Amino acid sequence: MNFFKTKLKYLLAISFVALQFFGQAQTSRKIRFPNLPNYLTLVTDLHQHSVFSDGSVWPDIRVEEAIFDGVDVISLTEHLEYQPHQQDIPNKDRNRSYDLAKAYAEGTDLIVIRGAEITRNLPPGHSNALFIQDANKLIKENAIDAFREAKNQGAFIFWNHPNWIGQNRLGISQLSSLHQQLIDEGLLNGIEVTNENTFAEQALEIANQNNLTIMGTSDVHGLIDWLFDIPGGGHRPVTLVFAKERSEDGVKDALFRGRTVVWYQNNLIGQEQYLVPLIQSSLTMDSVYYETYDGQITQVANVRITNSSDATYVLSNESDFSLYTKQHVFTIDPNTTTTLMIKTGAFLDHFDLQFQVLNATFAYRKHPTITIPVILN
Ligand code: ZN
Repeated sequence: MNFFKTKLKYLLAISFVALQFFGQAQTSRKIRFPNLPNYLTLVTDLHQHSVFSDGSVWPDIRVEEAIFDGVDVISLTEHLEYQPHQQDIPNKDRNRSYDLAKAYAEGTDLIVIRGAEITRNLPPGHSNALFIQDANKLIKENAIDAFREAKNQGAFIFWNHPNWIGQNRLGISQLSSLHQQLIDEGLLNGIEVTNENTFAEQALEIANQNNLTIMGTSDVHGLIDWLFDIPGGGHRPVTLVFAKERSEDGVKDALFRGRTVVWYQNNLIGQEQYLVPLIQSSLTMDSVYYETYDGQITQVANVRITNSSDATYVLSNESDFSLYTKQHVFTIDPNTTTTLMIKTGAFLDHFDLQFQVLNATFAYRKHPTITIPVILN
């Protein structure tokens, strides 16, 4: 514990020194998205492994990786029924991974949630139970009994990688009658639409049709930097959770109410009612005026847009006006300010810009449209 804290201080000191030399490089790996008007945006990665099931690292590494990535909430969801390191790390207590991570995270802002992975053949496949009290009590002969015990403990339960070709040769997520039963009994509350480096397009439809919370996780077993090429500019997949407060209860309430957006390979996936305010909070207008040329005012408006998020937005212009310097499809880089030159065709004191956001998805191949109101002084 003390050793870890010393190590953490040492690493922070190195990052600080590196920051002086490399400027933004060291801070840029922290995942940044703005808060919504009524909610805090918390960055979560709620499906991870350590050596206490089939992962390759000790739990402290998961804590350190999360802190480096600016992740607010993690859960180490060890397989209850799959313990391949048992010969080397006898693990009678399935809570051990959580207890270690929780202790390592003490004194930091990181929230660690107790979780476990109920690991069965399909159906029901693999599912994560979060906010449980005692993982050992979830070891049951019958899968449904494990789900019921988790629910008794107050768990939020989600179906992991429903598209996984390890269990489903088609790679196409399909709801079985057993899943339907779990949903009807309130034993299944969410579903992963992304897992590690895979996207389950049909799982998004299952989520929308059954009112399941949309989830995306790293499911990391090795090192997060290697799996998602973070040094090369990649990012881990995360679920952005829109919480009323920064606490375990705040996260739990938001998950049960479906207030999430997944960030995966620069795509945002979620319900339209959360995607739109997230994007509108990310892209804000910070100045506007009509261009002049040779002392003459033109009817081309110069609009500066600031993107205060980590997403590179891919926009398609749906406005009544065309752009002077860009094609109708263009990108806005993360954490930058971009100038758009709008041919308004007349002097307007206000107008709306409308863009379809092609890297955001709320249903099968459907993208939301956002409106940016522009008001000239
Ligand atoms: Zn897993």
